[in-house]
Amino acid sequence: MVSQDSFNPSIIFLKSVVDLAALPKDGKPQVAFVGRSNVGKSSLINHLAGQKALARVSSSAGRTRTINLYQIELKYYLVDMPGYGFAQASKEKQSEFGNLIADYLETTSNVAFVLLVVDAKIGPTDLDQDMVDLLRNAKLPFVMVVNKVDKLSQSELVKLQRTLESDYSHIPHILHSMHEGKDRDHVLGAIHEALLVYRK
Ligand code: GDP
Repeated sequence: MVSQDSFNPSIIFLKSVVDLAALPKDGKPQVAFVGRSNVGKSSLINHLAGQKALARVSSSAGRTRTINLYQIELKYYLVDMPGYGFAQASKEKQSEFGNLIADYLETTSNVAFVLLVVDAKIGPTDLDQDMVDLLRNAKLPFVMVVNKVDKLSQSELVKLQRTLESDYSHIPHILHSMHEGKDRDHVLGAIHEALLVYRK
């Protein structure tokens, strides 16, 4: 069972780093956030933390170039990876971020869970599908967080749900909007369930 405290975690920002060597090596579980640039990862972290400005939300796409590290109640880490697929970034930069994310996911031994955040309005893209393949090959437990659902009309929402059921039925997913408290609880619940399984 997930304790009530799980839904009001104390989350602190630790540091921003640019290479994997600077990440903690204390063996505590790491929960990673990956997704396209501007998909709303920072906003999601703020929502989970119940804070407005813990993570820096971008007004323009592609600004988050660092790995941002947060600590949850001295128990585990949230690792916010740079967004992939920022069209205006040079090809070298895009593949640099891609390699960094792949290296992290494939070589870090204590990744307990991954949240793959996708944009509800755009739907999962080819790059998101590549990420799904990478996560599967690395045998990492993950959930797809379909973010910004508040931007969808009722008919768009129904269409999205059909796509998720037909094309992504094998992937657990959570619909999320930063405006909905119940969505926050679903995401926190998924993280805590994954941590319980990881610790067994
Ligand atoms: P990141 O680059 O993935 O960290 O994305 P940000 O968190 O910086 O968000 C990018 C933009 O999407 C910002 O303008 C946010 O206000 C907006 N955004 C994030 N989450 C939501 C959401 O659930 N609903 C809506 N409508 N906008 C969102």
